[in-house]
Amino acid sequence: MVNLLQFDRDALGDWCEQQGEQPFRATQLFRWIHQRGARDFAAMTDLAKSFREKLVAGAEVAALAVASEQVADDGTIKWLFDIGGGDAVETVFIPEAGRGTLCISSQAGCAVNCRFCATGHQGFSRNLTTAEIVAQLWHAEFELRRRLALGESERAITNVVMMGMGEPLQNYAALVPALKVMLDDHGYGLSRRRVTVSTSGVVPMIDRLRDDCPVALAVSLHAPDDALRNELVPLNRKYPIAELLAAARGYLSRAPRDFITIEYCMLDNVNDSPAQARALLALLRGDGSAANPGLPSKVNLIPFNPFAASGLERSPAERIAAFAKVLQDGGIVTTIRKTRGDDIAAACGQLAGEVQDRTRVAERRARAAAVRVAAPASRRGGAVAAERGHRA
Ligand code: SAH
Ligand code: SF4
Repeated sequence: MVNLLQFDRDALGDWCEQQGEQPFRATQLFRWIHQRGARDFAAMTDLAKSFREKLVAGAEVAALAVASEQVADDGTIKWLFDIGGGDAVETVFIPEAGRGTLCISSQAGCAVNCRFCATGHQGFSRNLTTAEIVAQLWHAEFELRRRLALGESERAITNVVMMGMGEPLQNYAALVPALKVMLDDHGYGLSRRRVTVSTSGVVPMIDRLRDDCPVALAVSLHAPDDALRNELVPLNRKYPIAELLAAARGYLSRAPRDFITIEYCMLDNVNDSPAQARALLALLRGDGSAANPGLPSKVNLIPFNPFAASGLERSPAERIAAFAKVLQDGGIVTTIRKTRGDDIAAACGQLAGEVQDRTRVAERRARAAAVRVAAPASRRGGAVAAERGHRA
């Protein structure tokens, strides 16, 4: 069975052609799936009966299995989807006046391992497929339309942010077709500025996204200097701040907006001092020289959402306000993100789903095996105990 949620419209066209159908049939089918939420091929009455029979025999619109759904006091909804193999990912719907934002996951776990992120702490299990990324939107849109009794032309979800679990630019091949489905006029019809990819800074993929599918870009910076960013976002050791900002500047040539969003998670006594605010301002404003050109940006300060085992605390509100003021006085539009859905652990960085940490399990096993080989028999117990202590 082929899951039709895995195709953008071009790929669905190719698949239809392989079935001996005209390409325009793909557009009809695509509209049934993504504009009407249909999955029953028999009911797609404008398709030829022979095509419908082929679809029934060989294709499906496979939704994700809902493991749980929670609704927060503020109306935020969090779905936990079981994606098999012991993994589950989360999707969050955030209702606001006049719009509905869906926060979508791109991976089960995340390999970047940022210090302040619950997803990162879990380690990495696997990339989601295009179908699994699209299925989060498909489920939320049509479930909400039913619940809110919306008409066919009304939309429950007006904005998508790739800010759930995972680093979207480390799952690039699956991400791009999913973005195309979101943008497609025959699909969800979202404009480029209403679809945001948030990244911890996978520099070469920022360049590729600019060329392949330039949607709005948010860069998770979190620190004004490399020494601190190396600690908070380990990927910085590979792609330091200067390279990241250069890629973000390059992205602007095709971005749907004339600025890049900078995300900055406010961590008590870690990255929230007035001096750090001034350093961030200098970085973003630049001085007009080739060496320090700055970056047209808006800053979004995210009050840290604590989770067990992070060992970090949220900056006090006054310190966040003072940090914002330094940036605003320096001419940079700065907002403080409202925390939503924290009573159901649906706020930024709290998404943990359930992930089998395959990388680290493998790493740990390899290390344990190395210890066994290297250590004399009498020391084995001690070495293993130390290993456990280190991991715990
Ligand atoms: N991997 C991508 C997108 C997912 S995270 C990225 O890092 O950009 C979405 C946003 O939530 C990022 O800006 C991330 O830094 C932030 N975030 C992660 N953990 C957080 C926490 N505990 N509290 C507040 N924001 C957090
Ligand atoms: Fe991954 Fe983003 Fe979390 Fe960092 S903040 S660990 S990149 S999901």
